[in-house]
Order: sequence, then structure tokens, then C-alpha cells
Amino acid sequence: MNTPDTVNTAADTDLDLVAGLLRDVPDFPTPGIRFWDLSALLADGAGLAATTRLLAASAGEGEHAADVVVGIEARGFLLGAAVAHALGVGVVAVRKHGKLPVVAARRSYDLEYGSATLELPADVLRPGERALLVDDVLATGGTAVAACELVEGAGAEVAAISMVLELPALGGRARLGDRPVHTLLAR
Ligand code: AMP
Repeated sequence: MNTPDTVNTAADTDLDLVAGLLRDVPDFPTPGIRFWDLSALLADGAGLAATTRLLAASAGEGEHAADVVVGIEARGFLLGAAVAHALGVGVVAVRKHGKLPVVAARRSYDLEYGSATLELPADVLRPGERALLVDDVLATGGTAVAACELVEGAGAEVAAISMVLELPALGGRARLGDRPVHTLLAR
């Protein structure tokens, strides 16, 4: 119940819903990794709507508005498409190596577990466009840095990076430098 000095906003209610639908799984995909699973959140209509509203709210407005959303494989595709639709802009899929027929550029990077390569499709980002990067989890930041470098290498600008969950102990935010980072929750 609200008291005069505790006012719950619609965003607080959305955030509570999102937090309640996250699940952590110990020792997946390798021993010692605590994996955050968003399956139940994405499967819940109200949860997906709340997540989309909160992620879209971190996009700028007016001259700072995002022109395009960039979703990072694979859960970033689901969230990115929803956020792009909410903002009325298009979505670009930054994909893992070997999935795209025509590649503008690629970046390899280290993960919390293993390593990977991301690729940007050719001819989808225009120089000067403002891109909102969307993914599920910010861990070491390697994935987000690689995606930012692909966007910036195409001459576009990273307007902001928007993620559901941040794992602050892994230091991802610091690796992203001055780029604006918005995360809904930290664990
Ligand atoms: P990183 O590059 O270390 O920031 O890792 C971020 C990417 O790996 C995101 O696309 C996440 O989906 C995934 N990821 C890394 N660590 C975890 C984790 N502990 N739980 C869930 N997903 C993770």
C-alpha cells in the first residue's frame, strides 16, 4: 500500500513484474556460471509488454531519438524487435558468425564462457543513424562492445545500450566507456 512518502509509479510496477519472472540456473552452460534465463519473462504477455516499455523508455527523444534498434543474437532479437515496434523504427540483427549471407564487418570477442564472433549485415545501417542496442544480459561486456564497434564502424552512432539485466561483478559497464548504458535490474 502507498504511504504519502512511497509512491509506486507504473515503471516500478513493470520492474517488479520483470524481476519476478527472471530465473537463475546454477552451473549452466558450464560449472560456476549462474545463468539468467528470460524464457518465462518472454513467454508472459504482461511481462514482455512491461519489459518492452521499460527498454523503450531508455531510448532518447526528439533530436536524441533512436533511428533504429540493433538486437544482438539471440535473445536480443526478440527484445529488440519488440522495442523497435514500440518506438516505430526498424531493427537490425547483429548475428553470430556464419548466419548472414552478406556481411558488412565482423568482430571477435571473449565471453564469460568461451569466445564468439558477431557480424553486421551489409547495407542496413546508414552513416549518422542513431542506434539503440538491445540485449538481455550485460555480463563482461564483450558482446556489447563488439556490437558497438560494428555499429560505429558503419558510421552510425550508439545512442544508448539497453539491457534487461546487468551483472555488475563482471564489469561490463566500464568496458563500454562513455556510451550510455541502461539496465533494468542488477544481480
Ligand atoms: P558478455 O559479453 O560477457 O557481456 O555476455 C553477454 C551475452 O552473453 C549476452 O548476450 C547474454 O545473453 C549472454 N550471457 C553471458 N553471461 C550470462 C549469464 N550469466 N546469464 C545469461 N546470459 C548470459
